[in-house]
Amino acid sequence: MTVTHNPFTATVLGLPRVGPHRELKRATESYWAGRIDAQRLHAIARDLRRDQLTKLQSAGMDSIPVGTFSYYDQMLDTAVLFGALPPRVAGIADPLDRYFAAARGTDTVEPLEMTKWFDTNYHYLVPEIGPETVFSLDPSKVLDELREALALGVPARTVVVGPITFLKLAKATGGAALDRLDELVPLYQELLRLLAVAGAEWVQLDEPVLVTDLSLDEVELVRRTYAELSAATDRPALLVATYFGKPGAALSALAETEIEGIALDFTVDADLSGVPALANKLLVAGVVDGRNVWRTDLEKALATLGTLLGCAKSVAVSSSCSLLHVPYTLASETGLDERLRSWLAFGAEKVAEVRLLAIGLSAGPGAIANELATVRTALATRRTDPRLDNSQVRARLATLGTDATRRAPAEQRRALQAERLRLPSLPTTTIGSYPQTSAIRLARAALRKGEIDQAEYVRRMRSEIADVIALQEKLGLDVLVHGEPERNDMVQYFAEQLDGFAATDAGWVQSYGTRCVRPPILFGDVARPAPMTVDWIGYAQSLTDKPVKGMLTGPVTILAWSFVRDDQPLADSARQVALAIRDETVDLQAAGIRIIQVDEPALRELLPLRAADQGEYLEWSVGAFRLATSGVSDATQIHTHLCYSEFGEVIDAIAGLDADVTSIEAARSHMEVLDDLNAAGFDLGVGPGVYDIHSPRVPSVEEITASLRAALKAVPAERLWVNPDCGLKTRGPVEVEASLRNLVAAAAAVR
Ligand code: GLN
Ligand code: ZN
Repeated sequence: MTVTHNPFTATVLGLPRVGPHRELKRATESYWAGRIDAQRLHAIARDLRRDQLTKLQSAGMDSIPVGTFSYYDQMLDTAVLFGALPPRVAGIADPLDRYFAAARGTDTVEPLEMTKWFDTNYHYLVPEIGPETVFSLDPSKVLDELREALALGVPARTVVVGPITFLKLAKATGGAALDRLDELVPLYQELLRLLAVAGAEWVQLDEPVLVTDLSLDEVELVRRTYAELSAATDRPALLVATYFGKPGAALSALAETEIEGIALDFTVDADLSGVPALANKLLVAGVVDGRNVWRTDLEKALATLGTLLGCAKSVAVSSSCSLLHVPYTLASETGLDERLRSWLAFGAEKVAEVRLLAIGLSAGPGAIANELATVRTALATRRTDPRLDNSQVRARLATLGTDATRRAPAEQRRALQAERLRLPSLPTTTIGSYPQTSAIRLARAALRKGEIDQAEYVRRMRSEIADVIALQEKLGLDVLVHGEPERNDMVQYFAEQLDGFAATDAGWVQSYGTRCVRPPILFGDVARPAPMTVDWIGYAQSLTDKPVKGMLTGPVTILAWSFVRDDQPLADSARQVALAIRDETVDLQAAGIRIIQVDEPALRELLPLRAADQGEYLEWSVGAFRLATSGVSDATQIHTHLCYSEFGEVIDAIAGLDADVTSIEAARSHMEVLDDLNAAGFDLGVGPGVYDIHSPRVPSVEEITASLRAALKAVPAERLWVNPDCGLKTRGPVEVEASLRNLVAAAAAVR
C-alpha cells in the first residue's frame, strides 16, 4: 500500500468539545441523571462534531484535527484505547457507563485521580498502570471519528496522545511507567496501520511532555520510539505535536527520526535558536496563541513564519496548542466594549487568523494587506488605551520600598497577636465558605433577573451571614468566618469589582468533565475603586465578640484563574493585583477585623514546567503575596490557605509567604506535608486539614483526634490549628454541622 503524504498549510492542534453553548455538558449530565439515553447522547455529540468540522473546513483549514472530541477527557480516552482502565471498573458491562465510572466513580468504585494538565486550568484523569495492566488495542472511537469526518469530506488528521506523554503522566505501580513502552509501541504501530487502511493521511501524536525536563535516557527513549513508529511503510504521515513550551533536546531526537512533521509552540518565545534543520519535514508553527484570548499581531507572526521557511521542507500555520483552552467565539459576546473586543480572539477568530497567516505566508503580505492594516489599527489602540496605563497605580508601585513586603519578625508578631486575640491552644476554625444553599443561589439568580433589588439581596445575604455566625457560636469554634454567601466564585467576585478586568457572557472553558469555568479577562492596569468585602465581613464581626477572619483571594490565584494580558510580564500584573488586595486588608483592619486570610490555592499551578524557570516565578509570586499582606499592623494576624496537593516543589515558597498561619490540604496526604514543611524550616502556625471536605462522609471524633495526634508529632501545640482541609461550599448543611461538631470535640479532647 502506498500512502500519500501531502503537506498541509493551515490547521489547529485540537478542538474544544463542550459545545458553543455547553450542549455536551447538558446532554452528559442529562444522561447521568437518566433523563436521556446513550443513543440520544451520542446523537447530540455527533451533531456537535459535524457542525464543528464543517465550520473548520469552510474556514479554510486544510487539515482538521479529529478525535480530540471526548465525553470526559483525552487521557481517559487514551487509557480506553489501550485497554488500561483499572480492574475495579472492569465489572461494569456497558462501555459508556464503565467509562464514566472511571471518570467520576460510583457508590462502590473510586474514580481515577484528577490533576492539572501541565500549567493550564484543564484537569485530566490520571491513568493507573500496574502489574495487572495488560495493554490491548480498542481503536473503535478513533476509527469511528475518522470515518465520520472522512464521510463528510473533511481533510481529517487523527489526533492521539503519544506514548511518552501517556506513560509519563500515568500513575505507575510496580515499576516506572516508561518501562512499559515496549508493550505499548506495537499497539501504536497497529493503530497507525489501521488508520492508514481507514484512509488517514496524517496522524498527530501529542507529546506535550517533551517540553518538560527530561533525562538523557528519556530523550533517547523519545528517539527510539519515534524511530520505531516511523519505520513502518504502511502508515499515515506522522506529526508529533509539542506545546506549552520548547522541546529542547527532545526536538533534536525527533528531528533524527523519519516522522514527517513536528509542531512547535512559538508563542512562548519566537526564538529559533535550537531549532535544528528539519530539511525533510513539515514544521507546524504554533504562532497563534491557543491558550490565551489576545488577538494575534499578524505582522509579527508573519515575520516569525518567514524566518521559519528556511528551517523546514514546508511550514504550516497553526494554533500553539489545542483550542480546548479558549472559549468558542467572540460572536456570543455582546457585553464587551468595542475597543476591548477588537483586541481579542477566541476559538473561531483564531481559526480565521491561522487562515490569513497561511495566505500571507504563501502569497506574500500583500495578499492580506487590508487585514494586516485592521489588526495594526486595533492593536495600536491597545497600546494607547488609558485603561492599560493607570499612572496612579504605577506611581504607587514604583515608590513602594522593600519594607512594603516585610513585617516584623515572626516571634514578635506572635506575641502581639496572642495578646490581642487570646485564643485557646489548638484554635479551631474553617477555611471560609459555608454551604452555598439553594436560598443563596435563588437570591443571586433573582437579583440577576431583576426580580429583587440590591437592597433585598443584601438583606438576604446578611441573614445567611447571621445564620453562619450563630452556627459557629453554637458549635464553639474559636475563629469565625462570614461564610462567603455573596461570592459566586473566589476569583470572579473580585474581578467584577476591580478596574482592569472584564467578564464574558459565554466565555466558557472546560475545566474537567462537564465542569466549565468562565475566566475573567485581565486586560488593563488593576485598581480597586472601592472596598470589596468590608461591609460583609464588618457586618459578620458586629454579630460576635469572637474574631471573624476576613477572607480574600490572593494575587497569584486571581491571575491563575483569569486570562491575563500578554503585553507585560505576569509579575507586573501580580503586583498590581497585590496592591489592590493590600488596600483591602488595610480597610478590613480599620473596620476592626483582627485576622485576615488571603487564599492562594493556585500557587502551585502557575509553576513553570521547567526547573530553570521556577526560581524566578517563586520569587515574584511570593513577593506579590507579601506585598498583599504586609500593609497591616503586626498585631493583625495573616492566614493563607493552600490546596490541590503536590506541595513538594513549592514548599520553600510556602515558608517564604511568611503568613502567621497556613492552612493546608493534608487529610488525603496523611500529614506528610508537615514533615516536608519542617524540613524546609517552617516555624509558623499551621492548620493541616484534619478531614477531607471532598467527601460527604462525616468524620468521627476519634478520626479527627487521631489526625490531630499525628499532626502533633510534627508540629508543637503552640503552632497547631484545627480546621477542615478546604472550604465547605460544596457540602450540605447537615453534614457540615455534624463534622464541625466532631472537629470541635476532637480539639477539646486533645487539649
Ligand atoms: N476561602 C475559600 C473557601 O473556603 C477557599 C477555597 C479554595 O481553597 N479553593 O471556599
Ligand atoms: Zn482549598
